[in-house]
Amino acid sequence: MSDSPRYGVFKFGGSSLRDADRIRRAVDLVAREDDGMQKIVVASAMGGVTDALLESARVALGRTDDFRGHMARLRTRHEMTLRELALPHEFDAISAELGVQFDLVSDLLEGIYLLRECTPRALDSIAGAGERLSIPLVAAAFRAAGYAASEVDSALLVRTDDGFGEAAVDFEVTNAQVQAHFAGVSKSEVSVVTGFRASTDAGVTTTLGRSGSDYTATILAGALGAERIIIWTDVDGVLTADPRLVPEARPMRELHFAEAAELAYFGAKVLHPRTMRPLAERGLPLLIKNTFNPDDPGTRITTTALPEGEAV
Ligand code: ASP
Ligand code: MG
Repeated sequence: MSDSPRYGVFKFGGSSLRDADRIRRAVDLVAREDDGMQKIVVASAMGGVTDALLESARVALGRTDDFRGHMARLRTRHEMTLRELALPHEFDAISAELGVQFDLVSDLLEGIYLLRECTPRALDSIAGAGERLSIPLVAAAFRAAGYAASEVDSALLVRTDDGFGEAAVDFEVTNAQVQAHFAGVSKSEVSVVTGFRASTDAGVTTTLGRSGSDYTATILAGALGAERIIIWTDVDGVLTADPRLVPEARPMRELHFAEAAELAYFGAKVLHPRTMRPLAERGLPLLIKNTFNPDDPGTRITTTALPEGEAV
């Protein structure tokens, strides 16, 4: 037995973080996990926030509506959620932190408005702000539940090229940065990490593409050789068919990643095929579970080599 750290990576999508109640539910789900494991929580933006940020950029560019009003509403939503979640003595400091992030986005939007130009680079900084705004709320909820919890900006860990909108990961640099960071975190501390965000070697913010937070989770899990990796979503795992078309659609209990990739290719709402890559290299399995039905076993996606002759 080695005493090297055991890691659990738990990813929550926007619908699982839509409001204070759902964020508390996410905290409860992580609290059920084994205490011997160092916990890493990967958070998306609160539900609908990425779309709202992108819409603000469109509105600022086209001068079609009041983007300042859009930002004010987003700000109020985050502040109100924080008010419900944070320990009272933490509220002011975290609120100020949110204010700094909102000011940065507002400045970018003013720039777009004035220049009548929106570059892919500016758009990534705006789109990626949603996760930077959600992690203070999630970390505050963990502390209110009695955990030590810290915020980690994945932009400082995940290195990409400058393919704005869906940048390509440099795994050599990323793995080294991820391992170095988490080696310094104590086992009892929950790390709440932004999904989706990354940066170039010049420190410019990029994103991993829409729904890229799943990928952030598997990048971290792969770098650390995580023992338990759960993507918490709003369905009972990967379904046999689209339940809107086929009412008897059932969740699949176990799936090989090659099959999952094929399903994703044919448009099923599963995982982006690249998501499994960091796990496949180390043979790490992934669980997909339903936040609203946590006792359901969900779908287990395995990455081990298939027995010979068994093609997928
Ligand atoms: N917030 C980003 C999006 O909505 C990334 C994610 O949720 O995975 O695309
Ligand atoms: Mg999202």
